[in-house]
Amino acid sequence: MKRSIDQLDLFASRPGPPVPTQTTRRGPRDAPHGRAYDLTLFFQILNQHYLWERLPRPVLRWSRNRWRIVLGICDVERQVITLNRALDDTRVPDIVVASTLFHEMLHLHFGIAEGADGRRRVHPPEFKRAEKSLPGYHEAEIWLKNHFPLRGRPATKPRDSANRFLSLHEKK
Ligand SMILES: [Zn+2]
Repeated sequence: MKRSIDQLDLFASRPGPPVPTQTTRRGPRDAPHGRAYDLTLFFQILNQHYLWERLPRPVLRWSRNRWRIVLGICDVERQVITLNRALDDTRVPDIVVASTLFHEMLHLHFGIAEGADGRRRVHPPEFKRAEKSLPGYHEAEIWLKNHFPLRGRPATKPRDSANRFLSLHEKK
């Protein structure tokens, strides 16, 4: 039987009451090994099998908190990949973690930065081809569509009146 991940309050639209285990069992800060998955291992496998060992190892870490919208962030300049801690869960298939990390690794490989909002279209055709070449990519995409429906959407609606503070204080 399929268990909805929403039951776990991972991706619920509104924050529920605080769950004690979330804070006490939260993983160590800035570490590649989380509660369920070690990003170092994923990186080694992906780099060896799909990038010809070409990628120097970046800083790999799980985010401090769970994110609703973004799966991962790649800081190309500082060589830091941060993955959404919500994916650090044994109920998340490992191919989803692999696919998400591979996506961020390809940003390092192709040298393209991506903003935290994940909305910039910075994925050239060769990027997408490489991404899709990962076995299990489509399986991961389907899982993410079912369990992470907010992915890539703006976190908030656009402001109805932009820069209220600035327009009040700036000379026209
Ligand atoms: Zn991207």
